[in-house]
Amino acid sequence: MGASWTPPRAPRGTADILPEQVHAWHRVERTAAELAERYGYRELRTPAFEALELFARGMGEGTEVVEKEMFLLAPSGRARVEAGPGEAPDAGPRAQAPAGGHGAGGAEPLALRPEFTAGVVRAYRQHGLDKTRGLLKVYSIGPLFRYERPQKGRQRQFHQVNLEALGTGDPRAELELIAFAQDLLGALGIPDFAVRLNSIGCAQCRPGYRERVRALLQPRRERLCANCRARLDRNAFRVLDCKLCAEHTADLPPMAEQLCAACAEHFAAVRAGLELLDVPYRIDARLVRGFDYYTRTVFEFPSGRLGAQDALGGGGRYDRLIPDMGGPELGACGLAFGIERLLLAMDPAATGSAAAEAAERARRAAAVYVAATPEPGPRAAALELVTELRRAGLEAEFDLAGKSLKAQLRAADKAGFGWVVIVGPEELARGEVALRQMAAGHQQRLPRAELLARLAPAVPLAARPAR
Ligand code: AMP
Repeated sequence: MGASWTPPRAPRGTADILPEQVHAWHRVERTAAELAERYGYRELRTPAFEALELFARGMGEGTEVVEKEMFLLAPSGRARVEAGPGEAPDAGPRAQAPAGGHGAGGAEPLALRPEFTAGVVRAYRQHGLDKTRGLLKVYSIGPLFRYERPQKGRQRQFHQVNLEALGTGDPRAELELIAFAQDLLGALGIPDFAVRLNSIGCAQCRPGYRERVRALLQPRRERLCANCRARLDRNAFRVLDCKLCAEHTADLPPMAEQLCAACAEHFAAVRAGLELLDVPYRIDARLVRGFDYYTRTVFEFPSGRLGAQDALGGGGRYDRLIPDMGGPELGACGLAFGIERLLLAMDPAATGSAAAEAAERARRAAAVYVAATPEPGPRAAALELVTELRRAGLEAEFDLAGKSLKAQLRAADKAGFGWVVIVGPEELARGEVALRQMAAGHQQRLPRAELLARLAPAVPLAARPAR
């Protein structure tokens, strides 16, 4: 054994989710999953890493995420960490790219997923679901990875609730997603639901618009930020959503007025649907969203409770992605909410440690603590009892820290257990236990065999063993 070692802290832009915080996470994840199921979406779990090419082709080579924010993967032995050890966690995503830029086993380069959509469409194609199912409605919940500069509401490992409807060009598919979003935020108690909406057209009408934007912006080139000067040549469209350059683009004609007939009809149907469902929305001609795959409808859900990163979530239609991945001409749309941002926007009374503590106490009120004296017999009996109670469907706990009986009883009381079972040598010899109902403060001895029946009212029905 060498000298004691201080392990590195968790990498920048990541966060541990401690047991007292997980309560709020469960609330978001369960609410989202139950609601998604109610809307006919079923869970799909794809790998946390995929071929880099999938994201590059799917989201677009020139997009910010693909160009600058991908975490590439290398197997150990081939990793080449260029930074010093102290800097390693923050040395840049490519610091860990292996020589030659190849991934595991020297085969295709791999990357941690920065979003769900590309992987979901890959799975849809790979399993032939476009042929056997046609329409596939799926949701996913899990971590994603982007090498961004961390700030409030922006991390390098973050989590999303993501829904995708694959194989449909029906504008009601977007409307269903937006209705889901409204219900989710309502169920989480996030006030002031609003949709920012735009249409960015399709492969027919967007290129002409893009050229127009480029031509109009060319004379103002020097006034644009460095990023946008580069974007102007590659994809002038992107300049539209740059906040730094907003004053130079404010007078540009909105894309929604340049749509081809089919896109205009689709957009009108989406707007009519929002009015039908009474969903408040605002057209935002600046909304283009970051990935190349979007077509037609794009939307975002802002919240006044967030900082500069004010989007709780967003999404849109991506009719080219399935055909671009070699599939049939089928449309699709999706949305994603950042779970960290949902938690920031929720009422602290619902997410804070007081809420977690209240939930914990409510559970403990129906739970059993098995206390034992320190002799080997009672200690073994406590293990046996606690296991039996758990297998019968009760939440049960015992001491693993070597506390005295008195200290165990104090701990059980402090934690708010509804019941305490006490085993000592005397009880053990008689085949009995002492049962204390904490709220009533009374204690009785009873045959051990009767314990379960006595506690049965506390057993949730569903958890009782079938007979
Ligand atoms: P996007 O996939 O970029 O359209 O983002 C959808 C949603 O995911 C955003 O509205 C955020 O809520 C969340 N999100 C995206 N990037 C991050 C990040 N780096 N950290 C935290 N949340 C994020």
